Amino acid sequence: MKYPILILITMICFCHISCKSPRQNKETSITPRIETVPASKDFIVNKRGDNIELVTKTEEEWKKTLSAEEFYVIRNKGTERAFSGDLWDNKQEGLYTCAACGQVLFLSSAKYDSGTGWPSFFRPDDELMIKKETDHKIGYPRTEVMCARCGGHLGHVFDDGPPPTGLRYCLNSVSLNFVKSDN
Ligand SMILES: [Zn+2]
Repeated sequence: MKYPILILITMICFCHISCKSPRQNKETSITPRIETVPASKDFIVNKRGDNIELVTKTEEEWKKTLSAEEFYVIRNKGTERAFSGDLWDNKQEGLYTCAACGQVLFLSSAKYDSGTGWPSFFRPDDELMIKKETDHKIGYPRTEVMCARCGGHLGHVFDDGPPPTGLRYCLNSVSLNFVKSDN
């Protein structure tokens, strides 16, 4: 009978030691995790801090919702002929929205006559709603301008614009819809 009691005592001692092992102590001393809200890949935040839902469609889906000319310019990054669009000479007050997703992108107060035959602006309504990328399509680097919400091609931005920014956002009329202001 002596041996089973000895085994039992050994087991109790072992359990007591392992319960106080450094690993256990380390686990109980972990600092509480701070819960953060992860940034969603389906939203972008505008300058006012609003969440703007991204518009994502397959090229086949875009083909169904855009005209052939819109699809060529907006999705295939084409360029309309100078002086051919309906907005280059528009002097009315209002908003210019993305023709593909409806996002407000430019205001008439930043539009000016660049003489190029394409609607030109010296700044967007909200920088955060504009996406820029370098393209080398015609042999030298240009900065392509896209709608940040749907990825639609708008045109290019150049540094030969008027004050106060010195920038010229040279856009396609096809990529924009004009919404006349009420007053
Ligand atoms: Zn858009």
